[in-house]
Amino acid sequence: MNTVFEPSLLFISENDWANPAIRDRFILHLLDNIKNIYEYSICNVYWSQRYEELLWNHPQLPPWRVDRDWKIILIPQIYKYLSQLQLYVNDQDLLIDSCNVTPNMGCRHSRTEALEHFLQLIHLMRIRNEEIFVSLGIENKEDYLFSCKCHPEILKTIFIRNSLDWLKYIDLEEKLWGTLKDSEKFNMAIEITSIKTFEKGKKDFKYQFMCSDKFRESIIEEREHRGKILFSITKRLLLTEAEAVKDAGLQDESIKSQDNTRRFRVTKSVRIHYIYSGEGKIIFTEYLPEGKHDEGLS
Ligand SMILES: [Zn+2]
Repeated sequence: MNTVFEPSLLFISENDWANPAIRDRFILHLLDNIKNIYEYSICNVYWSQRYEELLWNHPQLPPWRVDRDWKIILIPQIYKYLSQLQLYVNDQDLLIDSCNVTPNMGCRHSRTEALEHFLQLIHLMRIRNEEIFVSLGIENKEDYLFSCKCHPEILKTIFIRNSLDWLKYIDLEEKLWGTLKDSEKFNMAIEITSIKTFEKGKKDFKYQFMCSDKFRESIIEEREHRGKILFSITKRLLLTEAEAVKDAGLQDESIKSQDNTRRFRVTKSVRIHYIYSGEGKIIFTEYLPEGKHDEGLS
């Protein structure tokens, strides 16, 4: 599943550009969207020669390409990410027909040709019957319906309104798993699970956490219970000790023979061990996969 960029993600009017608050929101929204798609290998961006021309070769350049200071900052970044994400469609295929959109999409950037082109691109997706992410600019927030006379089926669309929406579509268990040796990536995987599964953010964690090297290495080896590992670690961090003890899934408990070490369940026969490290801090010390003996388990 890939994405199509709605033009107000890429284009901004001179007036809006002159307003620093709107300009900054536009830039951040554009860069964060492109970076998230790229860094987490979520999908490709459907692209065409026409879009390429409108963005890079059109006589009327977008203001972020004219403004000298911004140009130096933005162009290399946009180019770097976008060039690796682009998936070109054949421009001839776009001329067949176009879609209508309800409600109307805002076009403050006044690049009406870009909007027309976008609706042709959407129509091509209808012809191909492809489900797509539609990456919206900040001025367009609705649930849009695309229709045409020639295709009765409803086009399946997921609207991306905020760059954080992409986090829901990162494939943690496959694409990110191998990178979990890196503690930043590990923290990110836990935060994403928290947002996706529990609809809670980092600020809701009851603890800061660290992982021993041994712990991270044995997690990477795991094939079967990846989703459950992320789920149970995240849940543990969102609960107090008393809540984790009562939780039927985690069944958090101390291990009698090991000073200060506690454990909770990933599955009935898989455990994670941890210790506290000062106030509000947890260190995950050991992952005990299926078949590895853990004291007191039948
Ligand atoms: Zn059609």
